[in-house]
Amino acid sequence: MSYDKNNIFAKILRGEIPCKKVYENENVLAFHDINPQKKVHVLVIPKGEYVDLDDFNNNATDKEIVELNKAITHVSILLGAKNKGYRTLTNIGGDGGQEVPHLHFHIFAGEKIGKMVT
Ligand code: 5GP
Repeated sequence: MSYDKNNIFAKILRGEIPCKKVYENENVLAFHDINPQKKVHVLVIPKGEYVDLDDFNNNATDKEIVELNKAITHVSILLGAKNKGYRTLTNIGGDGGQEVPHLHFHIFAGEKIGKMVT
């Protein structure tokens, strides 16, 4: 699938749509999910144009890959989840349930997250 520059996260990255920012660096943006599924629900996205994790792993630079992974840990600390635990996941494609075609890791925290898959 080719990258759709009009997806909602591309618009957030361009500043066309507001977001509740948690963290930002050169290659990464993290913000609160608009429809939180748990007490804390944050999305961590690369600033580069990657459809999903497979696209990212195949085409991103090593620096982008390292920074996105490190950002997940950094954001978990900012959210106060360091010692309590949290869940991170990314959905890929139709069977994976991905709705927004720009790579994003969900971070769920702030309470017991429960069953791994429902
Ligand atoms: P997916 O199903 O693609 O893994 O997750 C997409 C997520 O993006 C959903 O949890 C949904 O609530 C969130 N989302 C969709 N539109 C917006 C938006 O405009 N702003 C924010 N902050 N989150 C959004």
